Amino acid sequence: MTEATGIVGEFLSLKEETDADLLTMQCGDFYEFFGDDAETVADELDLTVSQKSSHGSSYPMAGVPVDDLTPYVSALVERGYRVAVADQHETADGHAREITRVVTPGTHLETGDESAQHLAAVVRELGRGDGDTYGIAVADVTTGQFQVTQLDDADGGAALTELYTFAPAEVLPGPDLRNDDDFLARLRERTDAALTLHDAESFAPGRASHAVREQFGGEAVDSVGVGEQDAAVRAAGAVLSYVEETGVGTLAAITRLQTYGAREYVDLDATTQRNLELTETMQGDRSGSLFDTLDHTVTAAGGRLLRRWLQRPRRDRGELARRQSCVAALTEGAMARERIRETLSDAYDLERLASRATSGSADARDLRAAQETLALLGQVSDAVTETERLAESPLADAVAGADRAAADDLAAALDDALVDDPPGTVKQGGLFRKGYDDDLDAVIEEHEAALEWLDTLPEREKERTGITHLSVDRNKTDGYYIQVGKSETDAVPDSYQHVKTLKNSKRYTIPDLDEKEREVLRLEERRHDLEYERFQALRERVAERATLLQDVGRTLAEVDALSSFAVHAVENDWTRPEVHDGQALSIEAGRHPVVEQTTEFVPNDLYMDEDRRFLIVTGPNMSGKSTYMRQAALVTLLAQVGSFVPARSASVGLVDGIYTRVGALDELAQGRSTFMVEMQELSNILHSATDESLVILDEVGRGTATFDGISIAWAATEYIANTVRSKTLFATHYHELTALGDELPTVENVHVAADETDGDVTFLRTVRDGPTDRSYGVHVADLAGVPEPVVDRSREVLDRLREDEAIEVRGGDRDGGGTTQAVFDLSSGQFASGESEPTDEPVATDGSRERAPADSSADDADGLGPEAEAVLSELRDLDVNETPPVELLAKVQNWQDDLEDA
Ligand code: ADP
Ligand code: MG
Repeated sequence: MTEATGIVGEFLSLKEETDADLLTMQCGDFYEFFGDDAETVADELDLTVSQKSSHGSSYPMAGVPVDDLTPYVSALVERGYRVAVADQHETADGHAREITRVVTPGTHLETGDESAQHLAAVVRELGRGDGDTYGIAVADVTTGQFQVTQLDDADGGAALTELYTFAPAEVLPGPDLRNDDDFLARLRERTDAALTLHDAESFAPGRASHAVREQFGGEAVDSVGVGEQDAAVRAAGAVLSYVEETGVGTLAAITRLQTYGAREYVDLDATTQRNLELTETMQGDRSGSLFDTLDHTVTAAGGRLLRRWLQRPRRDRGELARRQSCVAALTEGAMARERIRETLSDAYDLERLASRATSGSADARDLRAAQETLALLGQVSDAVTETERLAESPLADAVAGADRAAADDLAAALDDALVDDPPGTVKQGGLFRKGYDDDLDAVIEEHEAALEWLDTLPEREKERTGITHLSVDRNKTDGYYIQVGKSETDAVPDSYQHVKTLKNSKRYTIPDLDEKEREVLRLEERRHDLEYERFQALRERVAERATLLQDVGRTLAEVDALSSFAVHAVENDWTRPEVHDGQALSIEAGRHPVVEQTTEFVPNDLYMDEDRRFLIVTGPNMSGKSTYMRQAALVTLLAQVGSFVPARSASVGLVDGIYTRVGALDELAQGRSTFMVEMQELSNILHSATDESLVILDEVGRGTATFDGISIAWAATEYIANTVRSKTLFATHYHELTALGDELPTVENVHVAADETDGDVTFLRTVRDGPTDRSYGVHVADLAGVPEPVVDRSREVLDRLREDEAIEVRGGDRDGGGTTQAVFDLSSGQFASGESEPTDEPVATDGSRERAPADSSADDADGLGPEAEAVLSELRDLDVNETPPVELLAKVQNWQDDLEDA
């Protein structure tokens, strides 16, 4: 292939400079893609490919007009590409091109989506001590949010969970993690993030901590105690350097370093977020999720914050009490609340506007939007202070947290500068009010006088010449001209110089008009340049106040989110939960927050505490077990985001994590789960949960054969009850498990009641203490009209299956001291004998069906004398098929004699 030269050559050499996936290069009024990039872009975006010949070779080429670049780049970035943009600029000898920015999924400013857009870096430092240390930094360039944390983790699971809660658009793995295929695979599995291998140097401790100090100042860094957190600092430094390198220009909007520890938030792993349908349903719909149900926010930023709160419940009682008090005040101050929401509905997204101002992409409409929104802070705080109930609540402090005077000043300054309804372009004037700037006023005055002269020219000329069909107009080729109707062209004076003849008219010019034209063009240009200059200065001034914009934006967002809680609480009769540090969870007449929206919900109670930590939930299919358990998790979660809850009253012991596992058949049937996944998730829960966690197990063990399933469910129950000691709700269709309620001190049974009369099952939806009184499967088959012989036979088969099966229970008493041992006989559904030694009974310690009879008799033989052993051994070796009946009889006779002698 020949070496490409010219435009294509330039393109290819720029392409060498960048590791972006695609490059687009400005060529005059177009941005062009060449070669493979052209093909890719054409495929993705349905553009036409043409051929560009260059020195005998031909290259595919696809282009978009300069003004349309943004939507095309956005579309590419949303598909996961990183796109480098090379701009053209004038030089002394023609023009030159260079890459000015790289637009990537995590640094994309012109996102059409209101939800947060996260760029994350993750760094691992290998094990001092037990596990490794992970540092995570997460930025949202569209709002300037920047959060950093560090955690110790044995296998990367906790780090991945942390990343997952941010749903990052792009992740920069640190040098240590790049070759860890397992980690990267797990990351890919759980997020849609683009993975970018950013310059390893920027992760180096020295360079990273320098970048962090540069950005936030040494004091800020010391005061949040990040200084010592190497891994966190390395991640933070890498994110900052990446934002700078991609040229998005929002570095200045990242004003605040927020560090947080894992202890501040409730652990919610990916599975739990999905099972609880926090932001989307199991089917992947937004509608029907908890967020969708709860969201009454009127601003984009408020919605973002609410979503964030739901994904990150808190463990800090003080913060929860603060939010609750705000919500309580807002539920009572209905008038003020509606006034506030009405006001907020005019707000624009200040955090995003701050980023746009800093990056230099804000136009005059954006600054107007910022002005209008800044001015709302005053109105909102007036509404708060003028209402006694609100003024006395922590909402007053929240509103006072943003600097109202500064917001008013900036708003006033912007209002003095910009016209009410500025145009969407910043280079064609019309942006500023009169009186804003003397120089500008002078130019504008001259410009407008010249325009006025042009406006009135037709009147003057009509009078002078007596021509009636005369007008003055302007177009691109002819500039300004006088147009005269064909019938009157004879009356045109000699001073008119002919320019052009049209079908019905002729065009002329006169020396005065030529001169005015030059003046107008000159003034126009000066005005545009000057306005643009002044605009940039104004935008710069706003950019300098990015922190103020962010503060006000966050304050308004918080008021919006809290009001949303209040609206929902009032409309749905929710109540303020008591939150405490104990283990008890008590819910009176509780409901499921989403199901109650569409169903006549039957409220039910829940009580758990230290002595009643583990509830086995039984009841027929479709009776409401899953709903009841999720409801417990959601009430706890809502209490820990500061919301009211759907119950008559509730008292919630704060939890450090909520873990759920749904092994229900519906999950499996939809191909969303395999038994392996189910077990991995169970394993994760057994490792991660603590005695301060809430665990929801829904039909765990269902994905495998019955006896396997029972064994696992049984053992997991024992382990959680004795060792992990989490608050746990376990719905199971293994009726056998209910026996554990009697044996393990902290395990209790509850069931969802159903009523059967005359062959109909009525679901009462009420939860009562104790196990369900029977195993429902066969019974339901009976009710459903399955033929009598089948039902009878299935009862027989069921009995057979249970024959000879027994499970022992291993209990720890509450102090973890001695253990209890008991044997549960599956055939009778009862414990064979309370505390007896397992060797007295035919027992399979593993409960498995595969147990060979010969082995068990060997077990039993332990306590027998030598005669009996001899008999047994003979019996075992006897080939029944080869032995004549008479001989068999004789042998049996002999054995009986032997045993009698023994
Ligand atoms: P299970 O897990 O026992 O099979 P589910 O919890 O899935 O049952 O509930 C089955 C159906 O009953 C769901 O459609 C749910 O909406 C409804 N349901 C559950 N609990 C209640 C309740 N307390 N009041 C009204 N409807 C309920
Ligand atoms: Mg269920």
